[in-house]
Amino acid sequence: MSNEIKSSKIAYDALTTAGMSRRDALKVMGLTGGAAMMMGAPTRAEAGPSSDKKAKIVIVGGGAGGIMAAARLRKAASNAEITLIAPNETHLYQPGQVFMAAGLYKQSDIQHSNADLVPDGVNWVKDEVTSFDPDNNKVTTAKNGDVSYDYLVVATGLAYNYEGIEGMSPDLVGKNGISSVYLNNPVDGTAKGGVATWEWFKEMRSAAESASPEKPIKVICTQPDTPIKCGGAPQKILYLSDDNLRGNGPEGGADVSKNAQFSFCKKGTKLFGLPGYNKTLVEEVTPMYGNITDKWNHVLRKIDAEKKIATFEHTYQTKGEYDKDLEEYDMINHTEMVEMEYDFIHVVPPMKPVDAVASSPLGWQKGTAKGWLECDQYTLQHRRYENVFGIGDILGIPKGKTGGSARHHGPVLTENLIAVMNGKKPEAKFDGYTVCPLKTQYGEIMLAEFDFDGVAPSFPFLDPTKPRWIWWAFDLYMLKPMYWHLMMKGLM
Ligand SMILES: Cc1cc2nc3c(=O)[nH]c(=O)nc-3n(C[C@H](O)[C@H](O)[C@H](O)COP(=O)(O)OP(=O)(O)OC[C@H]3O[C@@H](n4cnc5c(N)ncnc54)[C@H](O)[C@@H]3O)c2cc1C
Repeated sequence: MSNEIKSSKIAYDALTTAGMSRRDALKVMGLTGGAAMMMGAPTRAEAGPSSDKKAKIVIVGGGAGGIMAAARLRKAASNAEITLIAPNETHLYQPGQVFMAAGLYKQSDIQHSNADLVPDGVNWVKDEVTSFDPDNNKVTTAKNGDVSYDYLVVATGLAYNYEGIEGMSPDLVGKNGISSVYLNNPVDGTAKGGVATWEWFKEMRSAAESASPEKPIKVICTQPDTPIKCGGAPQKILYLSDDNLRGNGPEGGADVSKNAQFSFCKKGTKLFGLPGYNKTLVEEVTPMYGNITDKWNHVLRKIDAEKKIATFEHTYQTKGEYDKDLEEYDMINHTEMVEMEYDFIHVVPPMKPVDAVASSPLGWQKGTAKGWLECDQYTLQHRRYENVFGIGDILGIPKGKTGGSARHHGPVLTENLIAVMNGKKPEAKFDGYTVCPLKTQYGEIMLAEFDFDGVAPSFPFLDPTKPRWIWWAFDLYMLKPMYWHLMMKGLM
């Protein structure tokens, strides 16, 4: 059976198993020309160069990127000894944490045994890398000593920095009106953020039921000023929690959204970096709710969990003197700390590269990307160590901290690593593909796709800036089985 037929069958099974009628499922499949199209153009599966050279390849990290790299390299490098260093017995389908928060998935729905995903013929060392020594081609592990390599793939993902907000810690998630959908533990395979945020949705709803438009509950949703994975998730929680108040969540109920006031606090003055997607969010989605205020250039710096007060760093500019020569006003920068009371707050933590990479010679040594893996944004090859490549969120490149991006990194990294093994130049190029299935309400997603050049819709015949039910159906019913059965097998 060809890969495309296999993927279409899995998608069809997923849709019908999930309760969609056969007719509707077929319509969805027909529109896309096969499920393998989802999340960007299909990537090369088994095509591409291969090598029969003997070499030691070490992959560090067994999440989305690490498993995809292992699956692809196992097929392409037939005589290589491939070692995966990854501590996690359980693999989390992290995008599903948002559906957990919305009350549509349970934790067990997004967990999978990592043993089932590690490809046959790959030596799995269940351990963590504590340091990288690229000058001597080796890594040091916590329990198994040094592991040497000829080629290294860094796939450690990123780390949360809840403590970067004064007074905040992961322990507070689920207490005192605080939640955070991102919280998970990739080592023990739990997704506390998903569980706690669905409780938060329900507590917010019952508080709104007892409130009034005159005395509304106060809800704050935040976004930090660091790079984050899935840049749309802070807004997904904003819209879905508000929509749950409108009675559109899985437990229904009356519309009590007028009894709540939401503030969305972030750096910058846009909801989305690209104008078309931003326009939809500003002109259609936000007004549709009628109770959301965007607080531009407000970054959460401190939280008092007992008193329920959040403190934001607010930056703004005022006009200074008029400069006759330049024919414009000087702009003066101001910073003030602003306290805001809340009943419920959704905290998105600042994010950073994992310490083992940041403290090694592999990270960018200076600049805004300091600590993130210093790779070429196109070839994904390290800029100073030619036998080192990266995949996934750890990459210090301009775009792409999403699972969809990692899926596009996979074939590029494989082709280029094989080229270097064969003594050739790496020529495959990552195009910057990033996908954000932005849930604008229950039942609708704006499928924002873009690359280094701008908007990059997989289905250009459908206006990509329009939220649609079909993308919701894809995301809810199809992406998870496609992730387990195709992406993790290096088949798309
Ligand atoms: C709430 C949420 C919503 C999301 N929504 C979407 C979405 O809708 N669409 C989308 O495409 N993406 C989404 N993502 C992002 C997506 O999950 C990530 O981009 C993707 O998992 C990145 O893969 P990765 O391999 O780089 O990192 P991960 O999958 O996080 O894996 C990294 C692995 O490395 C391991 N590791 C870390 N340090 C070490 C070490 N020192 N030694 C050994 N192993 C180590 C960790 O244990 C972990 O298992 C979402 C993520 C979250 C949290």
